[in-house]
Amino acid sequence: MRTISIVIPVYNEQEGLSLFLDAARPAVARALALIGPGARADYLFVDDGSSDRTADILSILSRLNPDVRYLSLSRNFGKEAALAAGIDHATGDAVIPIDVDLQDPPDVIVDMVREWQAGAQVVNARRADRSSDGWFKRWSARGFYRLLNRLSDYPIPENVGDFRLLDRQAVEVIKQLGEQARFNKGLFSWIGFRVATVDYVRAPREAGVTKWRLGKLWSLAIDGITASTTMPLRIWSYIGGAVALMAMAYAAWLVVRTMLTGVDVPGYASIMVAVLMMGGLNLLSLGIIGEYLGRVAREVRQRPLYVLARAPEEVMPDTPEVK
Ligand code: UDP
Ligand code: MG
Repeated sequence: MRTISIVIPVYNEQEGLSLFLDAARPAVARALALIGPGARADYLFVDDGSSDRTADILSILSRLNPDVRYLSLSRNFGKEAALAAGIDHATGDAVIPIDVDLQDPPDVIVDMVREWQAGAQVVNARRADRSSDGWFKRWSARGFYRLLNRLSDYPIPENVGDFRLLDRQAVEVIKQLGEQARFNKGLFSWIGFRVATVDYVRAPREAGVTKWRLGKLWSLAIDGITASTTMPLRIWSYIGGAVALMAMAYAAWLVVRTMLTGVDVPGYASIMVAVLMMGGLNLLSLGIIGEYLGRVAREVRQRPLYVLARAPEEVMPDTPEVK
């Protein structure tokens, strides 16, 4: 019988763990009813190096609930790596990554499973309404996806997060992608397969605070662009060509003008403009090449994407006893 694994990356979410389970259980039960008797679900939490009581609470929850498992990373590796760890260790025929803060409503799982039963291998959940996110997050996300999709070789759907259903076949492909600069949304789109989409309304965060800082989001955005595109690298040959052509035209004009009107006063302004513009363009192109090169260096080191402090099967000796 078919099984579903719910994968939940968590980082300092001690308040949200039980809330999440309580909210998810009824929805998951309805999803299982769609599949038929004997269908099962399990919850795999990924503790992304939390410094609060998250690991202790997960330990207790996993003892109380046979369908709850968790693994711990040795430090905070970030959501993308945590999610990769969860997907690697999930056992279900379908895997559903979901945020613990209930911003991804568990009810959507029912719609996802319906599409899965109908034959879809990847079911995207699209946020039809993001009014719960701040205007800056919405505005920046929108601009980012516009840019990304213009540059990328394959479309990455706007307003679709990591929340989605992945069939076992898709999961096996994802597991083989060992990229260090992880941008899951890009990978999930790159793999292809039969894709369906369900719409939902993004809820406000239920407990705790967002773990994203502007800097982290910026890094994720650069990772997303460099992981999905090569266009920013190629564009410099065209810009270089265009600038060279303009320079030649200007040179020709200078020759003609000198012949017509004689030697000019020194062209301080035009030289400054040309030098500064070329310097700026050089640095910009070097910087972009550097972004890609840095990631190449990271891939060459071949380090694992994450380090496990605890595998899902283990029982930690120092976890508190449940009486
Ligand atoms: N998260 C994680 N590691 C991190 C940051 C976040 O595992 O370094 C988890 C977090 O616990 C939550 C999910 O990723 O389950 C989404 O995080 P958050 O709600 O803070 O992001 P937002 O909804 O603001 O984009
Ligand atoms: Mg959130």
